[in-house]
Amino acid sequence: MKVMENMVEYGHEKVLFVNNEEAGLRAIIAVHNTNLGPAIGGCRLWPYASEEEALFDVLRLSRGMSHKNAAAGLQFGGGKAVIIADPKDKTEKMFEAFAEAVNGLGGCYITSEDVNTNCDDALIMARKTSYLCGTPAVSGDPSPYTAIGVWQGMKAAAKVVFGSDDLKGKTVAVQGIGKVGYDLCRYLHKEGAKLYVSNLHNKETLKKAVEEFGATAVDADKILSQECDIFAPCALGAVVNIETAKQLNCKIIAGAANNVLLDEAAGEALKELGIAYAPDFIINAGGVINAAGEAAGNYNEEEVLKKVYNIYNTVEHIMTLSKETGTPEGVLATEYAESIMRGEQKA
Ligand code: NAD
Repeated sequence: MKVMENMVEYGHEKVLFVNNEEAGLRAIIAVHNTNLGPAIGGCRLWPYASEEEALFDVLRLSRGMSHKNAAAGLQFGGGKAVIIADPKDKTEKMFEAFAEAVNGLGGCYITSEDVNTNCDDALIMARKTSYLCGTPAVSGDPSPYTAIGVWQGMKAAAKVVFGSDDLKGKTVAVQGIGKVGYDLCRYLHKEGAKLYVSNLHNKETLKKAVEEFGATAVDADKILSQECDIFAPCALGAVVNIETAKQLNCKIIAGAANNVLLDEAAGEALKELGIAYAPDFIINAGGVINAAGEAAGNYNEEEVLKKVYNIYNTVEHIMTLSKETGTPEGVLATEYAESIMRGEQKA
């Protein structure tokens, strides 16, 4: 894979490759755009099959963070890091070496936890770097804030599609009831929504949701085609492509997963099918809004929640525009974020 060619195509500022034999660390840090401020984005640890796969992921994810942070009204740019390793091979030395690599970027990238990295790993990184957020003592686990944002975004989507944001009596199918999905279900249950839930691996959480929320457990391979008002992907990205779009049996897609649509063609397919889509990087920004409060150095939960609840307004704005113009929501969301990054408007 040609690194510079890809950087130019995606619009990246810097990409740092890290190899530390002694610490067993192989990582790539991508700083996409710092127009609005230092780049924030988590550090993902994944057993990538190849360097190309890791690079592709970090470039795509870091650009997504620029869009997410801009649309959320944060004074931060977008970045991301990937450590190429099996989660079972995690070591303290690895995270210390990673933190030192972050220091090498002089503050233009601020790291945090992501898939397969957690608050404990953040504490290890904190020994070596202050370019870090999401530590347990300050902003902590981002998932509860992400769940609030998804809940609010879902309500806004319901307002645009059904004419009311009241979710009482609405059916919601949650794919992957985990940290975010479980909290989301709690809010939805309180509002009187009827829930369908799935989890491929964690049967305990599934059982808990059935008992606590009266949810109906659905097989993981059936949740996508479950008849419902709202499909909430909260497991993996790229679940909607031009083929799977035809299997959907919902009016709205609104969930926490990143990069829900495989590509732009999937967004166009949804439009043709009359399924409305709450853009992922707008609806799932609650966690980074919370972490950014810490990165700004003056964490204030009230301020954080104000911004998280504002996700409602952004989703409503984009989805209304999409309804009026026929342009897919994802395309409009990207245009919106990029105009903010260029300084042409404020979030
Ligand atoms: P999680 O790992 O706690 O939960 C995801 C669950 O999905 C897991 O329990 C897993 O067993 C299950 N799963 C995996 N594949 C599945 C499948 N095919 N069908 C059904 N279940 C499946 O993760 P999370 O923190 O709740 O995050 C959920 C999603 O939201 C992820 O895609 C994540 O990248 C994204 N996200 C999370 C946050 C956050 O603050 N945690 C922020 C932004 C985006």
